[in-house]
Amino acid sequence: MMIGVLAVQGAFAEHIKMLEILGVKSFEIRNKSDLTKHFDGIILPGVESTVQGKLLRELEMFDFLKEKIKHGLPVFGTCAGMILLAEKIENDNKEYFCTMNISVVRNGYGRQLGSFNTRGNFDGKEIPLVFIRAPYISSVRDNVEILTVCNGKITAARQNNMLATAFHPEVTNNLTVHKYFIEKMVK
Ligand code: GLN
Repeated sequence: MMIGVLAVQGAFAEHIKMLEILGVKSFEIRNKSDLTKHFDGIILPGVESTVQGKLLRELEMFDFLKEKIKHGLPVFGTCAGMILLAEKIENDNKEYFCTMNISVVRNGYGRQLGSFNTRGNFDGKEIPLVFIRAPYISSVRDNVEILTVCNGKITAARQNNMLATAFHPEVTNNLTVHKYFIEKMVK
């Protein structure tokens, strides 16, 4: 199994580390030529959706990845990665992959005070949840399974081959979410 980790910006090294601990091989997707390599799944890390979206288009990777995801490539988006997958961004007129039947609110907890740690359930297990200027999911539509609700807000969900979390499991030492992605969605 081989996982591609989008590495144009953001917390990709932390994701690679998690995969390493799980014994899963991965490589960084930095430009178009990396897309010729084989990968069974992809991780879209956090940081800034506007920058990632812009770079994906400038580096001519956007359309290829959108098609792959649409046709079933397993994808795990954290934070900004979740925004890239969302069909609708409530407070932004930008559009990215739009493959997942969810609406999100960017910087949903406020810009300045939007970073906090808590604990919550993911697929029936209690895990640490780290939010960094995070979005939340304001509504879900067809075929979306809600996996985490935190303080009344949906913060993780899955739709077939797509997994999205508003929080950052890669900055904790809890492997639950990465394990879920690998074992239930990629294998
Ligand atoms: N606030 C960022 C955005 O809107 C997401 C933050 C993150 O990925 N940690 O893209």
